[in-house]
Amino acid sequence: MAAMDSGKHGISIDCPMCDVEITITQDDRPGDQIFCTYCSTPLKIRKKKETDEIYLEEDF
Ligand SMILES: [Zn+2]
Repeated sequence: MAAMDSGKHGISIDCPMCDVEITITQDDRPGDQIFCTYCSTPLKIRKKKETDEIYLEEDF
């Protein structure tokens, strides 16, 4: 559990394919697959181990 993100309802992350902003909610966890609302690319939610930063990776 990360206590540092309290107060945030979602995170906006750019799609690696089309650069549109995708909002990740707190229901979305690392390992989940989502679809870009713009280009429909399947994306997997990833978390950088070093920084706890959330990012998206193409998941074809
Ligand atoms: Zn996209």
